[in-house]
Amino acid sequence: MKIDFANLGKAYEEHREEFEKVALDVMRSARYILGAETEDFEQNLSIFTGNNHALGCSSGTDALLLALMAMRVRTNDEIITTPFTFIATAETIACLGAKPIFVDIDEETYNIDASKIEQAITKKTKAIMPVSLYGQMPDMDEINAIAEKYDLAVIEDAAQSFGATYKGKRSCNVSTFGCTSFFPAKPLGCFGDGGAVFATNEEDYEKMKAMRIHGQVERYTHHYIGMGGRLDNLQAAILNVKLKTYESDISRRQAVAMKYCDKLSGSIIKPTIKADRTSVWAQYTVRIKNRDRIQKELKESGIPTAVHYPIPMHLQKCFSYLGYKAGDFPVSEKCAQEVMSLPMNPYLEEAEIDYITTNLNTIL
Ligand SMILES: *Cc1c(COP(=O)(O)O)cnc(C)c1O
Repeated sequence: MKIDFANLGKAYEEHREEFEKVALDVMRSARYILGAETEDFEQNLSIFTGNNHALGCSSGTDALLLALMAMRVRTNDEIITTPFTFIATAETIACLGAKPIFVDIDEETYNIDASKIEQAITKKTKAIMPVSLYGQMPDMDEINAIAEKYDLAVIEDAAQSFGATYKGKRSCNVSTFGCTSFFPAKPLGCFGDGGAVFATNEEDYEKMKAMRIHGQVERYTHHYIGMGGRLDNLQAAILNVKLKTYESDISRRQAVAMKYCDKLSGSIIKPTIKADRTSVWAQYTVRIKNRDRIQKELKESGIPTAVHYPIPMHLQKCFSYLGYKAGDFPVSEKCAQEVMSLPMNPYLEEAEIDYITTNLNTIL
């Protein structure tokens, strides 16, 4: 058997006629950037998340940048985040000259350990940037309470969690800012780069709306230093189609995850989803010893796996100037050595899941 990790081809086939129709409509309309499709998409995002300040933008990375720029984050500011994430989280902070301050993760959920945040706060702290890793949101009530106590913003890096819920509220609607990605491999993916940024506050929303188009408030009238961060109508049109069936995609991912949990051996550390939240299963990530050997053997059986992520941020060469060293965040370091993501997409069939789990259980 040969297993497809994300099966983007199947996602296309499933709605091929509709995708081709809407794409053709955009091409024939000769309106390509920030037009009707993008406006519709933003409205759909608001309905879906419950947050009526939604803006389409060029990527998840740019969504994070827009939020940080709207807050006027700059040199000497500190932003508290997790070292166990994709590079973009800490990179956008550093890009603006600010300092990422890392706080170790909770070993059960792989998200920032809220109980360790307070001790990292200084006079320079501007915001907390938790990441909703693998599709599950962190302890948002605790994080929001700390932010309120110290008058900080909370920026949710929701690139992997669009559609997830926390106490009934959707990801991107639980903090000062929510930033998500529609990169093809994310749970809701488009056919190129795309993202969205959400604000709880009208003023931030207006500012980001201008900032994603070079700070422009009227043609050639610029009130802010912004960026080229627009979403194109082709991607918005595709996303409008995909969003209509996204709930059922989430349920199918959920069903795949439950089958993995049932069928995997007890000696594998499986994902833990807290009772008050749901995951969109951006990844189904387990923990094992002897990862290199297991990945190699699975690959030989036609089962692709991935590591999210092998090197925590504080040990990345690009962040060596921050002065962290091995041992600073032991939970992140241990998880970085043991995590392994299994194929995850809505189309995995029972027989494929059986094949994957049987193979993995026997070579442990
Ligand atoms: C994918 C991802 C991003 C960046 O999104 P892009 O759309 O690729 O720019 C940021 N943070 C996390 C946690 C991600 O997984």
